[in-house]
Amino acid sequence: MRPGMISIVGAGPGDPELITVKALRRIQSADVILYDRLVNEELLESARPEALRIYCGKAPGRHSMPQEAIERLMLEHAAMGKHVVRLKGGDPLVFGRGGEEALAAAAAGIAYELIPGITSAIGAAASAGIPLTHRGAAASFAVVTGSRCQEHSAPVNWAALAHGADTLVIYMGMANLGEIRAQLLQHGKSASTPAALIENGTTARERTVTGTLGTIDKLAAVMKISNPALIVIGEAVKVREQLLSLQQEVRAQIG
Ligand code: SAH
Repeated sequence: MRPGMISIVGAGPGDPELITVKALRRIQSADVILYDRLVNEELLESARPEALRIYCGKAPGRHSMPQEAIERLMLEHAAMGKHVVRLKGGDPLVFGRGGEEALAAAAAGIAYELIPGITSAIGAAASAGIPLTHRGAAASFAVVTGSRCQEHSAPVNWAALAHGADTLVIYMGMANLGEIRAQLLQHGKSASTPAALIENGTTARERTVTGTLGTIDKLAAVMKISNPALIVIGEAVKVREQLLSLQQEVRAQIG
């Protein structure tokens, strides 16, 4: 029996065209695909008809398959000589638990590889016209978890983040938006800092709303922004508004 292999693969942020050539090739050759909720299911159409497709999705607050069960399945199939593709939304190593899965493969002595994907911060920001760095406005950006469920992770250092990075992109933050806002304000970030929410970034269902740090939680409630969504905070958010108003001006001139 040929030895099995595990590919831990990023599927990109939602738009099925935003996947790497390498990731698509792994989907095409896989025997078993273990895929998450945020993976665009269109991508699975590229798999071989006989490939086994296993949904491991987790809805927020609900765990349809515990992480241990996912890892067990991944290892069992690989131990049977299969090529297992562990397919995850965005990048597998950005809030994707890809590191844990690589450790599990390594501990079991099974060959694995890590294939990056465009993380949703990068994909959604581009799609919304927000440059995460921008000359004169943002020289740094940070990706941050807004979830309090990451009980095994280090707590988020909001005091440092309020001043330490120019653009903040917060994943998994919608349920705690009021608290995130309060933390940043309390640590001295200005209530007038531009802020955006991007829902379903890079997909046909994308919605982006912009306001300020001071108003962002009310805006989310009024606009009923729900998951998956990212919170972007920083002066660079203004570039989106500049782009939109320039487009409008040009359109008005053309008539
Ligand atoms: N590994 C993924 C992140 C998984 S954590 C990545 O690299 O993107 C799940 C969080 O990602 C969601 O709560 C949301 O904040 C964010 N997210 C994922 N896809 C998104 C999308 N298309 N639009 C907006 N946010 C998204």
